[in-house]
Amino acid sequence: MQKTIAVIRGDGIGPEIVDQALQVLNRIGTLYGHEFTYADVDMGGSAIDKWGDPLPPEMLQTCLDSDSVLFGAVGGPKWNHVPGSMRPEKGLLRLRAGMEVYSNNRPAKIWPQLASASPLKPEIVEKGIDFIIVRELTGGIYFGRHDTVAENGEAVAIDQLRYSESEIRRIGRIGFETARKRSKRLCSVEKSNVLDSSRLWKKVMHQLSEEYPDVALTDMLVDNCAMQIVKDPSQFDVIVTENMFGDILSDEASMITGSIGMIPSSSLGDSSRGLYEPIHGSAPDIAGRDIANPIGTILAAAMMLRYSFDMPREADCIESAVSAVLSQGYRTADILPPDAAGCTLTGCRDMGRLIIDNLKKG
Ligand code: NAD
Repeated sequence: MQKTIAVIRGDGIGPEIVDQALQVLNRIGTLYGHEFTYADVDMGGSAIDKWGDPLPPEMLQTCLDSDSVLFGAVGGPKWNHVPGSMRPEKGLLRLRAGMEVYSNNRPAKIWPQLASASPLKPEIVEKGIDFIIVRELTGGIYFGRHDTVAENGEAVAIDQLRYSESEIRRIGRIGFETARKRSKRLCSVEKSNVLDSSRLWKKVMHQLSEEYPDVALTDMLVDNCAMQIVKDPSQFDVIVTENMFGDILSDEASMITGSIGMIPSSSLGDSSRGLYEPIHGSAPDIAGRDIANPIGTILAAAMMLRYSFDMPREADCIESAVSAVLSQGYRTADILPPDAAGCTLTGCRDMGRLIIDNLKKG
């Protein structure tokens, strides 16, 4: 198969971690007979320096012309002084809007080798944590009418929460499709005991479930879900939820897995083209020192293969290689246990090379 990938290295550790992911993709291409070609895109601080714009229109167009986008991270103190509309992060917001990605998908997976990094009790972690949160990204309370008015001599703030059936249906479909590619269990999270928007959410999800008889749909109230994620995260496989609930739950979920450097995410819309990135930022404090953890970005590339290119074997191959390297005891500094017992400290480039050495065609 031939695929064109728009590559945004970005700022800080972005170029270091993205380069490792590209080398992993190149090896996958050789092993499985695919041709990945890369189109470089400037975004963020580096684009401001070069073009005076965090995402020049032609750069956005390169992303829209690609089969998917792999992104490192943007931002850093160097650009703190630039006006708000020109900040590096504005490039990312413009990219998401331009690509019309309305679904953010963030896995919460604990690697057994890193179990001690989780703040949860070992007996809970031992049951396994491996689920994904599909969060609606462009609707809900963050995008409703916001106002502060004067009433009876005091300020009153109003934030409107609205969802249309079509907005719910399109994110619901991503939830069902994601569940289909995993264990076929989908948990829809809302607050239907209080909110009209949640009652509509629940109704649409159940209508949709008739089109997905192979996927088992359950409902859960968001407050209960927040509790269950720390009580027994092993019960979840795919969670689908609205924007603000997903924002909060996905941070809770990433925390229980232990390390920010390990977690990828994808953003998807109506087409198969997606935006794939690690969840962390540009880590300017460690940039250029070859100590960043590239695994979140390498796993983002694996997500791209699974969800945009329909290459599940290739994605499994990358995830197995990551697991093998962790089992061999190799750790970047962020995931090295305090006593470093049985572990070998590795740099960013070495971690990439070790993962490539462990890629075995399944
Ligand atoms: P950050 O995620 O960049 O860093 C937080 C901490 O985690 C730092 O100590 C950093 O060294 C560490 N860290 C992050 N990724 C790591 C990795 N792969 N390996 C090892 N350690 C890692 O968050 P921050 O410091 O709040 O933000 C730094 C810059 O990144 C800011 O300009 C911010 O706006 C930007 N940012 C960008 C994105 C993005 O591009 N998607 C996301 C968040 C923050």
